[in-house]
Amino acid sequence: MRIVLLGPPGAGKGTQAERLSERFAIPQLSTGDMLRAAVAAGTPIGHKADDIMKRGELVPDDVVVAVIVERIEQPDAADGFILDGFPRTVGRAEALDGVLAINAHELHRVLEIKVDEKVLLDRVLRRAAEAKANGLPVRKDDTQDALSVRLTAYGDQTRPLIDYYSNRGLLTSVDGLQSIDLVTAALVEAIGA
Ligand code: AMP
Repeated sequence: MRIVLLGPPGAGKGTQAERLSERFAIPQLSTGDMLRAAVAAGTPIGHKADDIMKRGELVPDDVVVAVIVERIEQPDAADGFILDGFPRTVGRAEALDGVLAINAHELHRVLEIKVDEKVLLDRVLRRAAEAKANGLPVRKDDTQDALSVRLTAYGDQTRPLIDYYSNRGLLTSVDGLQSIDLVTAALVEAIGA
């Protein structure tokens, strides 16, 4: 089962991807997590991505594609995966289709977590405060300034994917303002497995 999760920053994609990953026993592939790990490890990809991510802009395609294609080809992703944070542009969605087609694979479902922009700032600031209080690393892009850049990137570059996948009959939108459990239940129902 190959699933894509879509939604603006702070919609809860990471939380839900983790739950779906457990439920369906397929890995969560988060390009954001992979890039943050590369930054923390100080790899060449991390050096390229660090400042761009801090500003809230999208990391260039060549960097992200190198990261995700290698990951999709790992044995644990052979039977499926939950993509969280990729693709973020129509061009990348087409590239993903191409990579999957090589192995006669296709996407099973694309799930959009819809959340009103007005609640997103609260959510990301709360995430930063909670991480800090728990002694966990605070995301450098969970700030008001970076969020506004991330929202613009989402609106301009990622939102067109909603039509792209909807036109192909793959999209289900779920209300992301419900409780975490209800969002999970709605996503599981949409997957229909
Ligand atoms: P996320 O954890 O999904 O919110 O991603 C955090 C940041 O990582 C984004 O704001 C981008 O700078 C970068 N990033 C993650 N995934 C992608 C992607 N598919 N394409 C470009 N940049 C990405």
